[in-house]
Amino acid sequence: MNAEILSVGTELLLGRTVNTDAAEVAQALADIGVNVLYQSTVGDNPGRLEEAVRQALSRSGLLVTTGGLGPTGDDLTKETIARAAGATLALDEGSLRRIEEYFAGRPWGESQKKQAMLPEGCTVLPNDIGTAPGCLFETAGGRLVAMLPGPPSELRPMLRRYLIPALARRGQAAIVSREIHVFGLGEGAAAERIADLTEGANPTAATYAKENEMFVRVTARAATEDEARALCAPLVEEICRRFGDVVYSVDVDGLEQVVVQALRERGLTLATAESCTGGLLAKRITDVPGASEVFETGLVTYANAAKTRLLGVPEELLCSCGAVSEPVARAMAEGVRARSGSALGVGVTGIAGPGGGTPEKPVGLVYLALSDGERTWVRCMPGGPRSRGRGSVRNAAASTALDMVRRYLAGLPPTPGGQPRP
Ligand code: ATP
Ligand code: MG
Repeated sequence: MNAEILSVGTELLLGRTVNTDAAEVAQALADIGVNVLYQSTVGDNPGRLEEAVRQALSRSGLLVTTGGLGPTGDDLTKETIARAAGATLALDEGSLRRIEEYFAGRPWGESQKKQAMLPEGCTVLPNDIGTAPGCLFETAGGRLVAMLPGPPSELRPMLRRYLIPALARRGQAAIVSREIHVFGLGEGAAAERIADLTEGANPTAATYAKENEMFVRVTARAATEDEARALCAPLVEEICRRFGDVVYSVDVDGLEQVVVQALRERGLTLATAESCTGGLLAKRITDVPGASEVFETGLVTYANAAKTRLLGVPEELLCSCGAVSEPVARAMAEGVRARSGSALGVGVTGIAGPGGGTPEKPVGLVYLALSDGERTWVRCMPGGPRSRGRGSVRNAAASTALDMVRRYLAGLPPTPGGQPRP
């Protein structure tokens, strides 16, 4: 089937919002073998929108629209698309009940009720995050139209959980996707390593960049879910084999989830001492439900005096080596471990930038240490001119620290290329 994507919103035309929704939809459709032949954007103007819809329906089997399902007055999108596609809107009782539940006694009114008006006979696509449902329906001319909400946080789950499976059901197929998550290998290098595996049509494999990480999504279509799963399995296995120990999970989205789970399984506790990450590492660990079982304490020791007072980092060491140094990272990890009584201690010290860099110690230089009481391992992120700004340095540092713990718990050398853990 050939498809096209029509994004609606004046803010997109003005360049104030980047059209990430179209990219999300295009990727999801590619995963199930639907070709996207056109992508267009139109402002919140009923006349031009109607014209765009008519044109799309004259040439494509599937039209996916994004934006304009919300309760605000300027959101005429749904009415206009329905009119252009020859559909009549009717109140959908199920969606109305969901909106009622969402507001749970708080006042709401006609404008919200409007969101439950959907094309007669459509498949409702539930909104798990907000109130406006989406829909999928067939026009009299046999074209499929799907409408999705604008906010990416609402669009993404609706797309993956409801629209893609609904499209698959229409094609009498089950779709299964598996995600192989990788830390420590760039998207380019990863794509090269599996280039010959990304050419297939079923299953498909495609690489995606994520902040400081990448993942590969493998998707298969078959008559049943079990068959689709079985089609994915050998490809997932081969990709994992080629990548080796930089794969941190299949289907678990986040190093922190993997770390908390592994600590739990091993019955171990963790404590962190952070400087340049300012608590981001502790935040990411405690984002995971159940982290309290394994996370002992997280200290943000930003000033040198705090590193000495709270972690016992010797003053002489800070003077002779500087706060951003291998020995200080080591002393931070050992100090927080010993003082908290945790099984493992992590120390992070670096230069997040944009200021504070020198030729010897450039912006982006971060030392990370992991101590288990017997040994301490140190990893260095070198930084330098290619370093990508404060937020990215901090996030990469937190991810690297998590990866060290992940590798330690898996019996791998916490520093890649180092000796295996005894
Ligand atoms: P709402 O209920 O929030 O009004 P909606 O479905 O009516 O949702 P819009 O009003 O079109 O959607 O957009 C809401 C917000 O979603 C926009 O301000 C913008 O931040 C974001 N958004 C809209 N379209 C896109 C897009 N194509 N890509 C990325 N973000 C988008
Ligand atoms: Mg809106």
